[in-house]
Amino acid sequence: MSRFAYVNGRYLPSRDACVNVEDRGYQFADGVYEVCEVRGGRLVDAPRHLARLQRSLSELRIAMPMPLVSIEFIMHETVRRNRVDYGLVYLQITRGVARRDHAFPVTAVKPSIVVTAKNLSYEKNQAAAKSGIAVITTPENRWPRVDIKSVSLLPNVLAKQQAKEKGASEAWFVDRDGCVTEGSSSNAWIITRDGRVVTRPADNYILSGITRAVLMNVLEALQLRLEERAFTPEESYDAAEAFITSASQIVMPVIKIDDRIIGDGKPGSVSQRLRDEFHRFAYFS
Ligand code: PMP
Repeated sequence: MSRFAYVNGRYLPSRDACVNVEDRGYQFADGVYEVCEVRGGRLVDAPRHLARLQRSLSELRIAMPMPLVSIEFIMHETVRRNRVDYGLVYLQITRGVARRDHAFPVTAVKPSIVVTAKNLSYEKNQAAAKSGIAVITTPENRWPRVDIKSVSLLPNVLAKQQAKEKGASEAWFVDRDGCVTEGSSSNAWIITRDGRVVTRPADNYILSGITRAVLMNVLEALQLRLEERAFTPEESYDAAEAFITSASQIVMPVIKIDDRIIGDGKPGSVSQRLRDEFHRFAYFS
């Protein structure tokens, strides 16, 4: 099936979808993005993703190219045209096209906007959750503003590749204090042996995940104890359960961290329950 991308006002077959070589996203990674889960052809938690998009743009002083409702409409339309039932919609906004110069363009340029959507295998994702994934830890080497969802992802790319080469699916960054910040494309969680669900507070050193925020509502409804604090890899080795969250993986159980088996080496029952309950608390549009 041919795929379509939205690029600056037009829906084009993917092979014809292009951006200018002097787009600042391409030249400087001067842009932001969002990834939304699609289920049953509907967007999951779009308003929260759009609110975070607005914040990322404002932190970087990139103009909002159009009202949020129009962006949401384009996301829906891209999902529809690509016939995505289960998958992801990707949205990227960059500062725009200008002659290459590090400083912002002197005369304001129009931000560029690209939206793509793709199907994923629901069965494959469920199978991964049934067996659980392995993660490695790696030193934090990103800038201290990863709360901005910028397309500048080189350390994340290298960390993910490192994980892959070690037979793992995700890498958790560890800061100078010896604490886990987050995964290369997910937030990191552990459950202590006495049932406390622990994740790092959303400061400048992690991306404030939408899945993370919704999961907090799930925890409250299930009367599980949440502890927002930093934890070390050593504490995670000893945890009863561990998992990661992201729009593409929802709650993905972790069964191995740096070659240490977590719990009994199978996805934990609380993690599985959180995964099963998640979409009851999500907002569909
Ligand atoms: N941290 C990073 C670095 C990520 O790339 C992602 C995924 N976009 C997340 C956390 C999780 O965020 P969300 O739940 O909004 O997908």
